Amino acid sequence: MLNRVVELKLANRELRQAKEIAESANRAKSEFLANMSHEIRTPMNAILGFTDLLRSLIMEKKPKNYLESIQSSGKNLLTLINDILDLSKIEAGKMELQCEPVNLYSIINEIKHIFSLKISGKGLEFLIDIAEDIPQALLLDEVRLRQILFNLFGNAIKFTESGYIRLCAKKSYVHNDRSSVDLIMAVEDTGIGISPESEEKIFEAFKQQDSQSTRQYGGTGLGLAITKRLIEMMRGTISVKSEVGKGSIFEIVLHDVSVSATPAISATEEIFDHKNILFEESSVLIVDDIETNRDLVKAFFQDTNIRSVEAENGKNAILLARQHRPDVILMDIRMPGMDGYEATKRIKEDEEIKDIPVVALTASGMKEDKEKIMQTKFDGFLIKPVKRSDLFRELSRFIKHSRKEMDEKDGEKSGKKGVMEDIPPETLEKLPEIIDTLENEFMPQWETARNNNSMVDIQDFGEKVISLGEEHSLEIFQKFGEDLVSHVKIFDIENIGATLESYPKLIEKLREC
Ligand code: ADP
Repeated sequence: MLNRVVELKLANRELRQAKEIAESANRAKSEFLANMSHEIRTPMNAILGFTDLLRSLIMEKKPKNYLESIQSSGKNLLTLINDILDLSKIEAGKMELQCEPVNLYSIINEIKHIFSLKISGKGLEFLIDIAEDIPQALLLDEVRLRQILFNLFGNAIKFTESGYIRLCAKKSYVHNDRSSVDLIMAVEDTGIGISPESEEKIFEAFKQQDSQSTRQYGGTGLGLAITKRLIEMMRGTISVKSEVGKGSIFEIVLHDVSVSATPAISATEEIFDHKNILFEESSVLIVDDIETNRDLVKAFFQDTNIRSVEAENGKNAILLARQHRPDVILMDIRMPGMDGYEATKRIKEDEEIKDIPVVALTASGMKEDKEKIMQTKFDGFLIKPVKRSDLFRELSRFIKHSRKEMDEKDGEKSGKKGVMEDIPPETLEKLPEIIDTLENEFMPQWETARNNNSMVDIQDFGEKVISLGEEHSLEIFQKFGEDLVSHVKIFDIENIGATLESYPKLIEKLREC
């Protein structure tokens, strides 16, 4: 008996030790990921940011084409990196779901809307079969649910040449009190199908069906791996039934989804138009150890009333904050010497400068950093690569500004005036040339983006339009591009579709000038 007790104690101790070792290995992995994400995103930030700036400076066609290749390859690389980081983040248990009341009917409607052109373009039928008794508001992570359905739909269309795509959704109650449901959704296609050997493999990262033509179908093989992990995080399962040459059915079951008492509101955030904002005379202290990062932020302030002061570490930041009393401090987190946490802590303890808002500017999207940032007394938080519109939105919380009120709807009401009233004479002279570019160079890219529903293509197209808008001071085109890019960023499928569809109308308006 005594021996048995001793044995059990020893076994327990060994288990505890093994658990500690596993936990510390896991922590090391997360830390490694946090660093990798920082190390990769920092140079990518500079590459993409400066390419963007150069594009509006270079007019010659050939170098401009080269730049566009750099930019689109850079973006593909960033998408790939983000997918890999997403996957690693999920595996390290660092991704968190943001559950809120979601209306499944409207999400499915959006999907129908955005994919309908592509589906009819391929001559496919689109069938939707949603049970009417699914509660109007379910507690789910809307962005992730869209991502899952978007991946499954994208694949179904990509691998189907004739027949139909069908989406089915139904529910069953888990408890008598009807407080939660099991939600069952299936995406069915009549496409090329999947061989029994591949059925398991395709959910692994970087795996595609054997002998699949990369040239014909493209893709990286990460979509289903991420989809599966996201579904598992939602306490769900995904399975596939398929027959080669006949088609496939991907079925998702989300277990025990809470029914929400409050109705769903769209997660679509208000799109901020940085072009309409006029900051008053002000100054911003940019703190970053990397010069190119500071230069990029500085370049965003060109043509604004914001003056910038720069510091390359936390210590100097405090000195300069005292000396210049800036309106806002943009604080990088990781810097040699005194880092951003320490500097901010000291600023917030300093009676003279403690009221200056400090916005954390960090390349890392890891949870630890976010938590630490929340604990330190930062007044705001931006993730690099930071976009001008995000930066200006954040600054507008602290710096006095006014807004130029002119939106697309006003423009439509008043016709040519409003939409195009601010066209400078030199642009008016070049209008035929610009219209030619928009129709003959941009239109094919617009069609590809619209037909493929590839976020990378849509973002690329949006950014191309932004730089044309910037180059010729055509605000309405800039706004169009910026709206598109913002919608892509938050996976707002409905608005991506609606914005894309408005492109030909914009060219029409320009032609009327
Ligand atoms: P990607 O589409 O980028 O290759 P995914 O992870 O989304 O990556 O899909 C992995 C592979 O699974 C695809 O390359 C394809 O071989 C197979 N697959 C996924 N969905 C389907 C489908 N609906 N029909 C046939 N094959 C599919």
